[in-house]
Amino acid sequence: MRTVVLATGNRHKLAELDEMLAEAGVDLEAATPREFGDPPEVIEDGTTFAANAEKKARALAAWLRARGCRGDTLVLADDSGLCVDALGGGPGVTSARFAGEPSDDAANNLKLVQELRANDRTASSAHYACVLALMRVDGEAIDGTRDVVHFEGRWDVEVRVEARGHGGFGYDPHAWIDGGARTVAELGQASKATRSHRGEALRALVRWWKQRQGMP
Ligand code: IMP
Repeated sequence: MRTVVLATGNRHKLAELDEMLAEAGVDLEAATPREFGDPPEVIEDGTTFAANAEKKARALAAWLRARGCRGDTLVLADDSGLCVDALGGGPGVTSARFAGEPSDDAANNLKLVQELRANDRTASSAHYACVLALMRVDGEAIDGTRDVVHFEGRWDVEVRVEARGHGGFGYDPHAWIDGGARTVAELGQASKATRSHRGEALRALVRWWKQRQGMP
């Protein structure tokens, strides 16, 4: 088994990624950075999900390296967010701190509703986006000459001022799917994983990993 340390302090994202990796049928085993101490806070000042994911992966790899962690241990960072068409693609990379810091789901959802209303909208097309960045702790090449690989996922939804459901996290109660039949917050974790932006990105990673290991 190869250990993959997940570079996220968000317990919901940790749980989603952990379960998805466990289900993937590959020799990858998730670990949290907390097993090694208190990981560094990373300022997410990139303008793209990819830049932020990569920044988080590099920071955690350097921190683990300094703690004597095995060089072939993998680090997986996720950056994700909600892009709302009526809000010019926002909040995008600032989704976690839309209503300011510290990150607060209820305040972010309230701000989403206010911004939609300020644009005379009760709904808008939108999508969740996720970029995963994977690298080795020692920074050695992982794919050809590249030291970091990216995997992307996208999930088209409709955001509405109306909210429903208590599962998931973040904007899920306002993210309507299946032609308005339900919200993402009404899906269980397993069905969310089969459809979500994070699930799609993780499946791309698993395909890449299997190919690299010569697995069927
Ligand atoms: P990050 O930790 O900078 O990647 O922040 C991601 C933010 O995007 C979260 O705090 C949520 O607000 C939002 N987000 C990302 N993925 C999801 C999801 O699956 N459901 C709901 N909100 C999400």
